[in-house]
Amino acid sequence: MLTLCLDIGGTKIAAGLADPDGTLVHTVTRPTPSGGAAEEVWAAVEATIADALHAAAGAVAAVGIGSAGPIDLPGGTVSPINIKGWQGFPLRDRAAAAVPGVPVRLGGDGVCMALGEHWRGAGRGADFLLGMVVSTGVGGGLVLGGIPYTGRTGNAGHVGHVVVEDGGPPCVCGGRGCVEAIASGPSMVRWARANGWSAPPVAGARELAAAAAAGDPVADRAFRRGATALAAMIASVGAVCDLDLVVIGGGVANSGRLLFDPLREKLAEYAGLDFLAGLRVVPAELGGQAGLVGAARLASLT
Ligand SMILES: [Zn+2]
Repeated sequence: MLTLCLDIGGTKIAAGLADPDGTLVHTVTRPTPSGGAAEEVWAAVEATIADALHAAAGAVAAVGIGSAGPIDLPGGTVSPINIKGWQGFPLRDRAAAAVPGVPVRLGGDGVCMALGEHWRGAGRGADFLLGMVVSTGVGGGLVLGGIPYTGRTGNAGHVGHVVVEDGGPPCVCGGRGCVEAIASGPSMVRWARANGWSAPPVAGARELAAAAAAGDPVADRAFRRGATALAAMIASVGAVCDLDLVVIGGGVANSGRLLFDPLREKLAEYAGLDFLAGLRVVPAELGGQAGLVGAARLASLT
């Protein structure tokens, strides 16, 4: 029997059908209606569900949902920062009504990414894992003792808002000096521009990585600065949670050694405790599918 999995973010809504081994046998993606009202966004989700149910000939065993956050797990609602129309939106109940008669399990997108990588990706065999996505933001989720750790409200693992710089740049969360405000793609690009990078008019992490690879010293420093912020956070979270592995995906992580080399170098400097000596940081393996695979895993844990 197949599991219907959903991955709901600010730019796209994906649905999939996973077999019991976590192989996605069908996927469909739609853009998230930009600035859409609550029901408009839901209509797009419902359409992806209908498509997946059609492909499954109507028979699924369970539904797993990974949603952008914050979420409220006890209430089954979501209020994603990047989906303005959804404030306290009752996602779990609406999904249950759309797919009646089967269990529905909701989780944050970060924990689903971590679960996906733990089950089928770079995190196989590591039972104390932080999964992270470094792209337009910095998100994350925890798998501790082999099971997802969601915390009190479902938002544990929001590592993008670990503060690493006193008086640092303002963050979308309202704080200052968060990892996200330093190491996300737009944050690194903003810093590089402010420090003299002659960027093309439209530039993101990819253009910044290309410039750094071509020897631009400001672009290179932007990556080192981002990597240093990530390393400080990883050393701290690693110590708090006694981690053995950190898996990093997302657009910024696609820049490979430009990010991972300085990150590992700084981590070795920051993570001094003996029990952190074996903490490894590796690239994700599942790319954009980690969230769907993890949502399917989440559903199977009910
Ligand atoms: Zn923040």
